[in-house]
This record gives sequence, C-alpha cells and structure tokens, in this order.
Amino acid sequence: MNAAAGKAATSWHEAVIERIEPLTPRIASVRLKAPLAQPVAGQHVDVRLTAEDGYSAQRSYSIASAPSAPHIELMIEKLDDGEVSPYFHDVAQAGDTIEVRGPLGGHFIWSPADGGPLLLIAGGSGLAPLMAMVRAWRDAGSETPLMLVYSARTWAELAFVEELQQLQVQAPEHFLFVAVTTRESPRRAGDLGRRLNAAQLQGLLSRWAQVPRHVYVCGSNAFVEAVTDGLLLADVAAAAIRTERYGGTESTLNPKIGVQT
Ligand SMILES: Cc1cc2nc3c(=O)[nH]c(=O)nc-3n(C[C@H](O)[C@H](O)[C@H](O)COP(=O)(O)OP(=O)(O)OC[C@H]3O[C@@H](n4cnc5c(N)ncnc54)[C@H](O)[C@@H]3O)c2cc1C
Repeated sequence: MNAAAGKAATSWHEAVIERIEPLTPRIASVRLKAPLAQPVAGQHVDVRLTAEDGYSAQRSYSIASAPSAPHIELMIEKLDDGEVSPYFHDVAQAGDTIEVRGPLGGHFIWSPADGGPLLLIAGGSGLAPLMAMVRAWRDAGSETPLMLVYSARTWAELAFVEELQQLQVQAPEHFLFVAVTTRESPRRAGDLGRRLNAAQLQGLLSRWAQVPRHVYVCGSNAFVEAVTDGLLLADVAAAAIRTERYGGTESTLNPKIGVQT
C-alpha cells in the first residue's frame, strides 16, 4: 500500500447506509456507499458512531462483499447487550450516515493470485471475510479448489446459503460447501450435524482429497481455537493457517498459528 492509500485507509469518511436487510434471525446485511479504496478479500473496516452529546464508539466489521463490488457489505450480528451492533438492527435506516475507515488488515487476506487449494472455515458472522474470498474466487473465474466449511446452530442461522448452494451447482468440480449445524440434524448429504473436531475435519479433508495450501478460520475465540486445534491434529501445517477472532470467550490460542487481532 502506498503512503497516500495508507493515509486514506486510516482517515474517517462519511458512509451512507444504502440498505439493511436480515440474513438470519441475528445477522443483518448492512450495505454502505463509502469513498474507500478497493479492498482485498478478508479486510475489514472500522465503523464509528457518534451520539449527539459527542460520545462515540467504534468497532471493526469485515467486508463481505466482493472486492470489485460498488458498495461495501457488512454482516453484523446483534449482541443484545452490545453497544454498537444493536444500532444496525434496531435504529439505523437506509439513508442514514455513519463514519468508516479502511480497508484495513494485511494478514487475513486472500487474492485469486495467491492460489490454493483454499480451505475456509467459518463460524456464525465469521463468514463475512470468507464470503468476500468466495466472491473474489468466483468473480475471477478461479479453478483453485475451494472448500468452505460453515457452521451455525441451525440451518436458518446460515447466511447466504442460496448463493453458496448455487455456486456449488455451477462449479461442482472446484467448489465444495459443507454446512455444519450444531443444534440441528444435517440437511443435505455431506453436511455435518455436530461441532467440528479433529476427526470430522480429517473426514472432510479426506473427502475433499486436497492438501490445503491456505487455510482461513474465522469466528468466536472458542470456535477458532477448537477448529485450529482440530486442524493441527488432522496434520494440517500450522504455517498454512490464518485466523481472525471476533471475541467471545477468552483465548489460549496455539502460538504457532498466525493470528490477527
Ligand atoms: C477484525 C474484526 C472484524 C470483525 N468483523 C465482524 C463482522 O463481520 N461481524 C460481526 O458481527 N462482528 C465482527 N467483529 C466484532 C465487532 O467488532 C464487535 O466486537 C461486535 O459487533 C460487538 O460489538 P458491540 O458494540 O455490539 O458489543 P460490545 O458493547 O463490544 O459488547 C460485546 C460483549 O462484551 C460485553 N461487555 C461489554 N463491555 C463490558 C464490560 N465492561 N464488562 C463486561 N462485559 C462487557 C457485552 O455484554 C457483550 O456481550 C469483528 C471484530 C474484529 C476485531
């Protein structure tokens, strides 16, 4: 990134909320029009809200839209007792303005030129940066083998399933989408109905029949820890794994894994 782009990415800009719509009962798609540079898949923006009395709060949200999209799409999960996320579910409306800066982050990123095989593992709203990677892969017409393993409690809590299933129909030889529902039986052949562990990850890797060159894991601390521990037990190289954590339970993440905080 050159100095001017770097400065632009760390300066605050006004963004207009174009659209807010539910993706799942707890996750909203928030579409912004903002004068930001084109992101790399996996990057995030910082969002700043300021009250009339001057109090302000800022949080980071990954960019879920394709890098080439004319807008920025965020996937914001509502934490009932949270300060910022409920605003996007209960208060904000199309036409409102907020402040954003970015795109930010230089570690948890993937471009089609990086190749693969590419293994993406998401828990809940952790899908956001991985969705940007899937969309970048799709838009580039990439033939890099890609397996997306996406976990939520129930099928209804999985976002973008139609888009993901359609992609699997369009590119069955290159794209494998496995849904994991931890509180519901699997819906499709090949999906899983329990929490991911080493044995299940090993089974998925055998079925995929690829050795992943790049692995991206995103979700809560607990999810990322369970998955990375399982991947290491399943003999995935630590150097191939990158993680991004959205909070939740305290972490004792394996120090061998690449972490972005
Ligand atoms: C790089 C990055 C990307 C991210 N991308 C996404 C994304 O795509 N989608 C997404 O939904 N989230 C994402 N997050 C998480 C997001 O930044 C926020 O952390 C999340 O939305 C919660 O913010 P909040 O203001 O609603 O909750 P907060 O007010 O921050 O509260 C979070 C939790 O902490 C508890 N808490 C807060 N203050 C205290 C206190 N003083 N004492 C005890 N408990 C407290 C609250 O009760 C709540 O359960 C990302 C985070 C990072 C770092």
